[in-house]
Amino acid sequence: MAAPPPPNYGAQRPPMMNNPNMNPHQVRPGQGLPGGPNVHPGFPGGPGGAPPLPAGQPGVGQPYGQHIPPNRAGTPQGYPPQQPGMQPQPGGPQPTGFNYGNYPQPNRPAPNYRPPTGPGHADGMPPAPSPSMGQMPPMGNVAPIQRPGMPPPLRPLTGHAAGVPGSPMTESPTARLPPNFIPPISGTPPPPGPGVAPPGTRAGRRAYPTADPYSNPSAMSPMGGPSLDPFSAQLPSPEYGRPGTPATGVPPSPLPAQAPQFFNPGQAGGQQASVPTFGAQPAGPPAPTFGSQPQGQWASGQGMGSSSTFSSQSDLAQVTGSFGNLSIGGQSRGGPTSVNLLQGPPNVQEFDGPAPTPWISPESSVSQAPTSNSDPKYKRCTINAIPQTIQLMNKCKIPFGLLVTPYRHLLDGEDPVPVINPPQIVRCRRCRTYINPWVQFVEQGSRWKCNLCFLTNEVPSFFDWDPETRGHVDRLQRPELTHAVVEFIAPQEYMVRPPQPVVMLFVIDVSYAAVQSGMLATAARTILDTLDSVPNTDNRTKVGFITVDSALHFYNLSPNLAEPQMLVVSDLDDTFLPMPYDLLVSLTESRSVIEMLLQRIGDMFKNTQNVGNVLGRALQAAHKMISPIGGKIIVLQSTLPNQNEGALKAREDPKLLGTPKEVSLLQPQTGFYKNLAVSCSPTQVSIDVFLFSAQYADIATLSGCAKFTGGSVYYYPAFNAARSEDAMKFAHEFSHFLSRPIGLEAVMRVRASKGIRMTAFHGNFFLRSTDLLSLPNVNPDNSYAVEMTLQENLTTSLACFQTALLHTSSNGERRIRVITLAVPVTNNLADVFASTDQFAVASLLSKKAVERALTSKIEDAREALMYKLDDIMGAYKSSFTTSGQAVQLLMPDNLKLLPLLTLGLLKNTAFRSTSTVPSDLRSYIMAMLYVLPPEMSMVQIHPRFWALHALDQQAGLPGADGRIVKPPSLNLSSEKLERHGLYLLENGFEIFIWVGRAVAPELVQMLFDRPAYDAITAGKTTLPTLQNDFNVRVNNLIGKIREVRIQMMTTYPQLYVVKEDGEPSLRMWFLSQLIEDRIDASYSYPQFLGVLRERLGKVGTA
Ligand SMILES: [Zn+2]
Repeated sequence: MAAPPPPNYGAQRPPMMNNPNMNPHQVRPGQGLPGGPNVHPGFPGGPGGAPPLPAGQPGVGQPYGQHIPPNRAGTPQGYPPQQPGMQPQPGGPQPTGFNYGNYPQPNRPAPNYRPPTGPGHADGMPPAPSPSMGQMPPMGNVAPIQRPGMPPPLRPLTGHAAGVPGSPMTESPTARLPPNFIPPISGTPPPPGPGVAPPGTRAGRRAYPTADPYSNPSAMSPMGGPSLDPFSAQLPSPEYGRPGTPATGVPPSPLPAQAPQFFNPGQAGGQQASVPTFGAQPAGPPAPTFGSQPQGQWASGQGMGSSSTFSSQSDLAQVTGSFGNLSIGGQSRGGPTSVNLLQGPPNVQEFDGPAPTPWISPESSVSQAPTSNSDPKYKRCTINAIPQTIQLMNKCKIPFGLLVTPYRHLLDGEDPVPVINPPQIVRCRRCRTYINPWVQFVEQGSRWKCNLCFLTNEVPSFFDWDPETRGHVDRLQRPELTHAVVEFIAPQEYMVRPPQPVVMLFVIDVSYAAVQSGMLATAARTILDTLDSVPNTDNRTKVGFITVDSALHFYNLSPNLAEPQMLVVSDLDDTFLPMPYDLLVSLTESRSVIEMLLQRIGDMFKNTQNVGNVLGRALQAAHKMISPIGGKIIVLQSTLPNQNEGALKAREDPKLLGTPKEVSLLQPQTGFYKNLAVSCSPTQVSIDVFLFSAQYADIATLSGCAKFTGGSVYYYPAFNAARSEDAMKFAHEFSHFLSRPIGLEAVMRVRASKGIRMTAFHGNFFLRSTDLLSLPNVNPDNSYAVEMTLQENLTTSLACFQTALLHTSSNGERRIRVITLAVPVTNNLADVFASTDQFAVASLLSKKAVERALTSKIEDAREALMYKLDDIMGAYKSSFTTSGQAVQLLMPDNLKLLPLLTLGLLKNTAFRSTSTVPSDLRSYIMAMLYVLPPEMSMVQIHPRFWALHALDQQAGLPGADGRIVKPPSLNLSSEKLERHGLYLLENGFEIFIWVGRAVAPELVQMLFDRPAYDAITAGKTTLPTLQNDFNVRVNNLIGKIREVRIQMMTTYPQLYVVKEDGEPSLRMWFLSQLIEDRIDASYSYPQFLGVLRERLGKVGTA
């Protein structure tokens, strides 16, 4: 195998300087959206519906994460820009995958680059009374809390198991990494039946429950004061620790300086006497497979191991009955099962388990269908049994929020979202909630009671009567009532204009760096090779190109031309387009001219010496060109924009890294790009940014384009197409990016049960009004976090959250995707703790920490993370610890990984205290954490780590279900590294293979096709494909990781081989991800627990 040139991790960046200025997450007040043709008209009222919003409602530029004024369920819903006059068309695409970028890489000088060789139901009659209507007894359909220890309800889950873990690092100022040590990371409606309750549930015909299921739980008597949110307020400095002990929870510099000891097999890194030691690592459970998920089982917990599934309705009734009285009535049944964290190392295999689900059986819904509640992959709540009172909410200290990934890419084996086209979309006439599986039928089934605002509404006749067959139909089989996630084909009233076509306008850098690095040629080749896959089912897709150096080049791509014409504009005092037509053309009609351009474009600029770049002007022109329609602007940029409007300075200043002033480098240096993005939002234009610079790229500033338009950022530091790994990575990601289905001109609204208020939103969007998120592009890879609070005590036993995403699918159909999540309400603190989803909490906290870092300082973000952990553990300790347990460090079983996750965040590239992470990389990882869905942010926070030399029989081979079996995960500790071992570590963006010095030559030969350790070349590489079992299995594992990552986040992780005694910066990069170790001044996991115990001890005695 040809060894690639070793990366130059040690290359110094040129010193740069400059100032920050704006918070990239903020839209300045007053920057409301202009009205314009795309002002949202508001939803049509249904029969008796609420009046639509007046057109031209002023925008309300809201800063991200900004606290929002109270808004109750019941606000009329406004929807976005459309123009009248279009017919929906049947059939449509399904959501697509995720998209999360890449990571940074080490700077590599690029000598002698060469142009790359491209890799290249419906009804409508008066309802005849159903035979049993009004005769059935009430169902007692009280939402039961389902607790651990009880058999969980049947809840078929499909798809990929919860993600894996991420990448941190820490160093002392004395032992720093070389600055560039980080290498590049760089329908058809499904039959309504399937989700229906099991046979026997509705023998004959079931009457609709008429009892009011919403019990009014007795008042609580909890205490508890107001919660101090460490992320939103000026924090008092935490007063942990006594003098002389490590105090501030984070890695500042509390520990005595010590030479780095990265590789101490058999010895916990830097353990101190006072630090608890761990026992032996428990044996791992059976190896999970990729994409597998245990069926309807809880991942954790006492007594859950023997959980069974409900097989009959009587079982269900029994259980729901018993639960219905259990905690809703108010008696506490004792605390959750506590785990003493000091007893042993964390059980990291729980990262491979299924996501926790709400403590309610989907069969408690009106249809009793197993698909009645939202799959956590679409929407999950941090708490799966919600505190009933404000007091109880304050007392638990657990962050209350939703994580929504509305347009996620379906993984292999997952059922598509049902698409329905009813004669009428049924919504609550007061709060505009869409009818869903958690409503109740009242008055003999003639009305339905809204589960958000509790108003009763009429049931339309077509729910029970099919005019075509002139027969009765079972309303409980309708997808709206059997599925938590459904997609309606939107009728005319939901449009103000025809659904827009897919429009892709490429803005490509053709300056010297873009050409020399091979970016231009690789990009052109990839677009050319992907043209057949670009969404274009109705032949309406339009494309256009602008190339940029110190001038702008436009291309006349008229289908009537024999070849493309280039129009050069070098007078850039004003933004104008050289011609009004044929710059944006039909992909189908102009296909041959487009292909010709893509084939020639590399040669056209191959001799350029132009180092100028006027990206700002190019974006203005691009916006002008595309704004009458809307669509995607795709920026491919190798050079820092350095001329005209939007010019940026190379401001990187290594002296600022690791200091409080570092944040200035993480904030945009000019408001230009954010302002441009904000003006793009109302015209339904999104901007995706691909950055390839070998030098400073100013991601902090340029990412603003994506942030406010629902776009994405991809980063290929020091891209060099001459290196096949670089070309392959970009080509894979760009090709997936171009060919996946996309949602366009979208708005999203989140509603919640009365009493719950949204307080802040996090993600890439523009907040158009208090709760309306504008998304010119619905990115399948992105999730959105919603912070919530109780504004009044809840009066019912069930809280519901509904997200509606009105969008245009990439085949030109206007659709509304509705996602409903139901979570029981409890007045029992023990239930709150025992139902908390630690992964969702960590994911939400990571987003809040990003925002905190960018609006304040990274140190404040670390402090807030630590403070929140203290808060939660302190709240638990004060309620559930007896005096005899004082020396222990207790957490509920389901939260026992939260300290490890917090430590992972503190050591993550985004937040660790270090002077060695370039600001571009830091900005990039922050941008990723801010939008990644929880499954993916877990991989970044806690990477997965496997021993390749000890693969069991099945690992790396297809299991019984045909999926590749994963090896068991190891703890992220260098204790696991044996000298004769081979290990794989993956963090979502990179894959590392660590090779121990005493590795068996036979293994080296089988894997690398090299005779021995010394002959292995470290660095970015590609494994040879050889005909031996070991090689096949490792390649299977790597291939499967890449397949899943490209689907979930549009990332093709690059492979690095790291030798035990190899290049120090590469070793350091790998070792810094072993977050249980002590590295330099950072705490090891045992030390971290020691610090936590000390801080909590102090809290307890205060
Ligand atoms: Zn309502």
